[in-house]
Amino acid sequence: MSRHYSIALDGPSGAGKSTIAKAIAKDYGFIYLDTGAMYRSFALYALNSGVDFSGAISDRGNDKALIALLDSFTLDVRYVDGVQRVFVGGEDYTDLIRTSEVTRAASAVAVVSAVRIRMVKLQRKIAEDADVVMDGRDIGTYVLPNASVKIFITASALARARRRYRELIGKGDGSRTFEQVYADMIERDKNDSSRSFAPLARAEDAALLDTTDLDLQQSIDAVRAIIDSRIVRESSGSPA
Ligand code: C5P
Repeated sequence: MSRHYSIALDGPSGAGKSTIAKAIAKDYGFIYLDTGAMYRSFALYALNSGVDFSGAISDRGNDKALIALLDSFTLDVRYVDGVQRVFVGGEDYTDLIRTSEVTRAASAVAVVSAVRIRMVKLQRKIAEDADVVMDGRDIGTYVLPNASVKIFITASALARARRRYRELIGKGDGSRTFEQVYADMIERDKNDSSRSFAPLARAEDAALLDTTDLDLQQSIDAVRAIIDSRIVRESSGSPA
């Protein structure tokens, strides 16, 4: 078992996981692993390799083209000034994987068991070597079943779609209407929750946090309170 602390934050898209995870990681001096970025990286690699994601994404479970692409796919997760960056075949993908096209493709590649197994291996290795806050869909249930603290963070679909839409607009991406963002969110929820291998689910021993009516600071404070109730902090600020 790992000697390190691990905090598993799971939940659907737009619940606030990544922003909360970054703040918590900084506060506790842990590294932050955004596992979604790993699925996004493979999705972009597949798009660049000519895979067509225009059809239904729910059942690509045994997609042969995607499985074959894993042979040539190399992913490096590095930390530059404490910030995670993802490299595929040596190329920095970090700033290329946040488009709507990649988001949709990521949800499709994430149903492929062989893809998940590859990602999970790397995620577990990172948690072996460092104290980590990891966010995703299956961290508490599958990736790190012995995580020190597990929290399932959720919010209503409407609240999550509103946040995602604001985020896109804030980035100057007006390519999707609010209705499209909301529909995408519902579709991703469905795919993530219904896939047969490691679906989005709350672990039995995960605390539940609904952020629908909380602002960011309130959400961070709530997560911190859950962590502190489960692991005791040393005076230095790190958990003991
Ligand atoms: O969290 P993010 O939106 O970046 O994740 C992109 C996609 O990757 C999700 O829609 C989900 O389908 C998939 N994912 C996953 N398991 C994880 C993290 C992300 O299936 N642990």
